[in-house]
Amino acid sequence: MSIRQIIQAIEEYDTIIIHRHVRPDPDALGSQGGLRELIMHSFPNKNVYVVGEEEPTLSFLGKMDHIDDQVYENALVIACDTANAPRISDERYNLGKMLIKIDHHPNVDPFGDLLWVDTNASSTSEMIYELYLHGKEAGFKMNNESARLLYAGIVGDTGRFLFPSTTKKTFQYASELVSFEFDRPALYDGIYNVTDNIARLKGYILQNFTLSRSGMSSVKLTKEILDQYGLKPSETGQLVGTLSDVEGIQAWVIFVEEEDVIRVRLRSKGPVINGIAAKYDGGGHPMASGASVKTWEETEAVSEDLDEVCRTFIK
Ligand code: AMP
Repeated sequence: MSIRQIIQAIEEYDTIIIHRHVRPDPDALGSQGGLRELIMHSFPNKNVYVVGEEEPTLSFLGKMDHIDDQVYENALVIACDTANAPRISDERYNLGKMLIKIDHHPNVDPFGDLLWVDTNASSTSEMIYELYLHGKEAGFKMNNESARLLYAGIVGDTGRFLFPSTTKKTFQYASELVSFEFDRPALYDGIYNVTDNIARLKGYILQNFTLSRSGMSSVKLTKEILDQYGLKPSETGQLVGTLSDVEGIQAWVIFVEEEDVIRVRLRSKGPVINGIAAKYDGGGHPMASGASVKTWEETEAVSEDLDEVCRTFIK
């Protein structure tokens, strides 16, 4: 079973480098940092590093390490929460001696020497907690900081235990994680507090979304709009769920104009949408996925595809 092999590999290697996907969210950082804390607390003599670009809005979930290429020699590399190799943050992930993939997205790119992919898991952080449970006999020990990070990842990827991916197991693990000591209100503040600019842009989204008869909704956040609200494209992550409570919306897309691409952020409450993301070279989960397109014409094509998926969706 791959979990056993992963535990063996962790026991075996002295140097372990943990990667995750670009543009990290709480689950990417939570699983990455939570795994690091778990290994360091269980095996204090090992050198464990986390790498990738910093995400300033999530700095409360830890800082990245800056390591030389030589550190990868004879190292075990673990990539968390990343479906396809090109989306791994820090392209040196292949420089190690062994590569392990731990992820809960559809396994579109089965990279690595060892893979553990569980699409039924709510989050990769949930999987890391499971790894800890399996590793207890091998000496795995949880600490408060690991628990805080894994809890953050679970909360982030389940939309505070709201999305259908939330299972009995998710609640069970969450209940065990909260028995550790960490400041839960501070964690929620970090993930969910928004600046006044974001709050106002939320208002713009709620005023300007389209709604088709099929239940398809879309919003365009052009560079001009973002400038008007004093926001960078990277600061819009907290806005994707804004339309989730609007009655009649089955699936929605938010287009965010970046420097040279338009980011496509798709969400659904029923129709499967990751096929559309894949069509535009993106990917993700059946109910939450993304891609990038080059022109506003292409965004129209994406909206039409989404409309079609909503029209043919049978509840
Ligand atoms: P986001 O809208 O960025 O929060 O992404 C939602 C989900 O889609 C996440 O699970 C991402 O990993 C995935 N995703 C977003 N953009 C891409 C992309 N360009 N390629 C593959 N997966 C993506």
